[in-house]
Amino acid sequence: MIQPSILLIEDEPALAEMLAYNLEGAGFEVARAEDGEAGLALLAARRFDLLLVDWMLPGVSGLEICRQVRRGRDTAGLPVIMLTARGEEDDKLRGLELGADDYITKPFSPAEVVARIRTVLRRTRPASAADTLAFADIHMDLAGHRVVRGTRDVHLGPTEFRLLRHFLENPGRVYTRDQLLDQVWGHDVYLETRTVDVHIRRLRKALNAAGEADLLRTVRGTGYALDHSATM
Ligand code: CA
Repeated sequence: MIQPSILLIEDEPALAEMLAYNLEGAGFEVARAEDGEAGLALLAARRFDLLLVDWMLPGVSGLEICRQVRRGRDTAGLPVIMLTARGEEDDKLRGLELGADDYITKPFSPAEVVARIRTVLRRTRPASAADTLAFADIHMDLAGHRVVRGTRDVHLGPTEFRLLRHFLENPGRVYTRDQLLDQVWGHDVYLETRTVDVHIRRLRKALNAAGEADLLRTVRGTGYALDHSATM
């Protein structure tokens, strides 16, 4: 499974730390740069799936980085999200004119950033026929919105589909109910954690309808993971 890679250019260490921690928790690979020069050097050295860049940076500004990214032969198509402080409304407009795909105003919640990144990635990298996720004998076709277990079609509701997609994107990783609510249901939703149990039960029932091995592991007192050891 290839994790989407994100370059984060942010000069405030505490904010950069918090963002990197949450993005990694959401299944992204994160590279960090503390200023524009270091960020541009990383952009020249390797490929990223998305750039998350602070507007106000010492030296080369976020705006200038955005401009250079759009002009670069290898980076012209790179999705860019800008982080701006409140009151920089004019900057937002200029950022969008210069080709930023989205902007997020500080202060923000990590869940909001994760959600916005996913939205931009979905928009800029539309699912193609080749976009499938798989684990053991489970295959998910993202473009066709179809799930197959072995040779059997698995019919899932929209929530179960998103839940399974999240596990397939992060196999083996244990998620608490709160993390699942945050990352699968979204940051504007206030639900009780047992909602997660209800949907996990439905997902299990659909996945194991023909008596297949249960690949969803319940981690007592913690949460859930998609895991081969569930069957042991
Ligand atoms: Ca800054």
